[in-house]
Amino acid sequence: MTHIVVLGSTNMDLVAYVEKAPQRGETVTGREFRTIPGGKGANQAVAAARAGATVSMIGAVGNDAFGTRLRTGLEHSGVNTDHLRTVEGPSGTAHIVVDDEGGNSIVVIPGANGTVDHLVPGDEGLIASADALLLQLEIPMAAVLAGARTARAHGVRTVLTPAPARPLPPELLSGVDLLVPNEHEAAALTGVPDPFAAADALLAQVPEVVVTLGPAGCLYVTRGAEPLAVPAPRVTAVDSTGAGDTFVGALAVALAEERPVREALTWAAAAAALSVQREGASASMPYRSEIEARYT
Ligand code: ADP
Repeated sequence: MTHIVVLGSTNMDLVAYVEKAPQRGETVTGREFRTIPGGKGANQAVAAARAGATVSMIGAVGNDAFGTRLRTGLEHSGVNTDHLRTVEGPSGTAHIVVDDEGGNSIVVIPGANGTVDHLVPGDEGLIASADALLLQLEIPMAAVLAGARTARAHGVRTVLTPAPARPLPPELLSGVDLLVPNEHEAAALTGVPDPFAAADALLAQVPEVVVTLGPAGCLYVTRGAEPLAVPAPRVTAVDSTGAGDTFVGALAVALAEERPVREALTWAAAAAALSVQREGASASMPYRSEIEARYT
């Protein structure tokens, strides 16, 4: 089995559903409240585990009730949490208000994720044993850099989702093998609004780029080859939260299995299409058998 390591965030999403979001100084009565395990790191870990890989998560949760739930949630999806630290203080939380038009506003409190600013003994050996390392930007940059450096030193493929979008140190990009921004992140990173042109610009810094385009699918570019556009299956989306994380998790598994790039992208698009047809982020992520059935 392929082995994927994820170095990143775990959050509890605290979601309030309201007709209309409150303005400053206003109090409104909402309709429903849900606590949903999330964080881009944890979501990618669940996606990759369900897609059929052995997955280990490096990160941290707090020593609170959310931390316990986040850890057991990952374990139930088959993610190994031996390298997920429990630290003093609160777990990461995302406070989300969703209105009836589907608009949202979000406050993220990093909590325990903020303590993941370095690798601890054992993390390096784990990364060295992996087929791929998945990184995102919801933990301190120092740890993201340390992860990329370690993976590079051991010849492990590094996949970076540059979200939330922010300027990236050149040192990080030089350690990344595959960059997977969505079209907004690609535009933010390059200042180029057209996704093809943005992907091309990013090739100056990384050898392979996939820009995801929501229902329009994705495009792949690498140096010295024609770009590849892969459509997304046409489906009725009910909740696209976590689509990008599902896509990246599944893509990493397919590439680690050494499937050809077009096939890997089509497989990842099948996984993401399944996830958008169901509610929730990690809860909606498909298992390998479902992806295979959708893909063939
Ligand atoms: P993010 O969730 O990071 O914003 P995207 O919205 O680009 O990323 O979605 C990632 C991938 O999920 C897309 O490349 C596509 O394969 C799939 N996807 C997203 N929305 C849909 C949809 N409405 N129908 C089918 N596939 C979708």
